[in-house]
Amino acid sequence: MKKFISILLCAAILVSSLGILAAAQKKDETPVIFVPGFLQPYMYIEGENGAEDEYLWLPQKEKIFDRIIDDMPNFLLSIFGLLLGDVENFGETLGGGAYAVAEKMRCNPDGSSVYPVVHYKNDPAESNAANLKKIVSKEAERKNLLFESFIDYAVANGYAELENIFIFEYDSRFDPIVLAEELRDFIKAVKKYTGSEKVNLFTVSYGGLITSTYLYYHMNEKDIGKAVLNVPPLQGTDFPDRLFRQNVDLPLETLVDFVESVLGAGTEVASIFEANDGDFLNTTLNGASGGMLDVVRNWSTIYAITSTDLYEGMKKDFLDPVASKAIIKNNDIIHYEIMPAMKQTFEKCKKLGTDISIIACTGIDICLGGSLNGDILVPTYSASGATVAELGKRFADGYTGKKTSCSNPAHNHVSPSMEVDASTAFLPENTWFIEDSYHAMFELEDYAISLAAKLVFTDELKDVHSDPAYPQFEYSNNPHRGVYAKFNNSLSGYVSSKDTALIVENIFDESIIKITSVVANGMEIDFDIPFASMLKPGEKLEIPFSGDIPKVGTTRTDITVNFVKAGISSGATAVNFPMTINNGKAPEYKGGFVDTDPVSGLEALLPDAIYNLLVKLTLRKASESIFDTLAAAFIF
Ligand SMILES: [Zn+2]
Repeated sequence: MKKFISILLCAAILVSSLGILAAAQKKDETPVIFVPGFLQPYMYIEGENGAEDEYLWLPQKEKIFDRIIDDMPNFLLSIFGLLLGDVENFGETLGGGAYAVAEKMRCNPDGSSVYPVVHYKNDPAESNAANLKKIVSKEAERKNLLFESFIDYAVANGYAELENIFIFEYDSRFDPIVLAEELRDFIKAVKKYTGSEKVNLFTVSYGGLITSTYLYYHMNEKDIGKAVLNVPPLQGTDFPDRLFRQNVDLPLETLVDFVESVLGAGTEVASIFEANDGDFLNTTLNGASGGMLDVVRNWSTIYAITSTDLYEGMKKDFLDPVASKAIIKNNDIIHYEIMPAMKQTFEKCKKLGTDISIIACTGIDICLGGSLNGDILVPTYSASGATVAELGKRFADGYTGKKTSCSNPAHNHVSPSMEVDASTAFLPENTWFIEDSYHAMFELEDYAISLAAKLVFTDELKDVHSDPAYPQFEYSNNPHRGVYAKFNNSLSGYVSSKDTALIVENIFDESIIKITSVVANGMEIDFDIPFASMLKPGEKLEIPFSGDIPKVGTTRTDITVNFVKAGISSGATAVNFPMTINNGKAPEYKGGFVDTDPVSGLEALLPDAIYNLLVKLTLRKASESIFDTLAAAFIF
């Protein structure tokens, strides 16, 4: 008996250690270098003879206020001006205050720094997360630990050790060709310091363009095990052009959502904007950006992150062809050699043993205006290479993709919203899209942060087909959205006859909500909201529906979840989940695009002037939500 028990014990130990072994194999122990985004690293001027360092970036608020106080008469005048409607002058004065502080960040026409500006050293013994955790608390030594939430998350969940994470520091004013060489030095230093043959890279935003440039030149050195690029502007963005030309036209609803998403759940900022309208902000920003143009016009980065179709215009209007020929030389290479070769670079990397994954965000305007679909700063096509309908449009029903990068008939690379076609992407099998997620906000979102951690620290997600919990397309679960919804038996974003209910989850951090109605646009089904539809944070509700899912495939439908936030008078709101019906034969695709935003019930009922006023006052969502709920309860 004893022998039997000991055999059993041995077997148990063996099985469990095999289990540990299996888990360890999935965890990637390669050192990871984080490559931050534009203007994420600190920049400063070192104090001489024991004087304090002068921090230039991130700017310190007190300093800007000091300047405004120094300049008080001017500022007061502009306040009077503001009261009399001269918003532009107010913006200029604000910009002037910031200008006096930022002035030391100016560059010469050749792109070099005017002042002796430095960033933190790239020394692995110093810039590993374990050491940074220690010294950041002593504020005089170092101001910040970038990606602290992500690092804490990775350590708390057993993905990584602090000693194995390194932060690359750089001067944000310089272009990717310059910075790729600095990154190369740091990669070599980290390899030497850790004794590892390779390193992995995790990049955010501009860090992805620096990294792609590094790979373009140095992939043959085979130093990189894998690179995970989060929201990289691989084909640039319209943002600099609009700012330089003072052509700011903020989408107000997006701005309200963005501020709420950053400030966290439960914040109600819409009311702040209700008193003003968007024009006030636009004029102020346009006025302020004029003063700042002098600071940033010779930053080579600005031209690197400009979309290629706007680059020549920017070059012509803001750079001197002779004095700035160094900036122009590198940026011509970026726009005419490196950016067009992105797909080939990634494919060659894969053959050389470097795996690349991309996380792109979608469904949001580009800040400052325009019709590109993006993540407020980077267009989705730029981050992914995918074909993307302009904002407010989608591919017509039946569209199954151009299939230029992936022609596997078993693969569906078109988003459930039918706005993104990843079959043309740089990496159709290795690009994950998050709908309605803001640029570089992944640390605030449970789904986005776990996706990033899985990609960076494990080998579990070989591609978008590896795990149904991490499909190619998923909705953001940033708490400010309030609810997340999916049908009970389909992949996220899809619906078919297999489904019998919609599962809605309260994703607020704190607020209790009451689901008031669910409306399907494009399907004749009725949702039967259970009487007890109050949900605490984290709680889910299964909402059955009656009626048949149409026998069609590749056809868009929109599910709108209306709810009220407890305790807030203006708490009625709606979240839309664009979905695809996957329940039969696809209709013939006749080409072209259709509008995503069908006329809402309320819009049909109200005169244009009143509806437009609601939009202007950012009351559209709340009003439509209340209207939908009333309509569902009483009229139909
Ligand atoms: Zn494919």
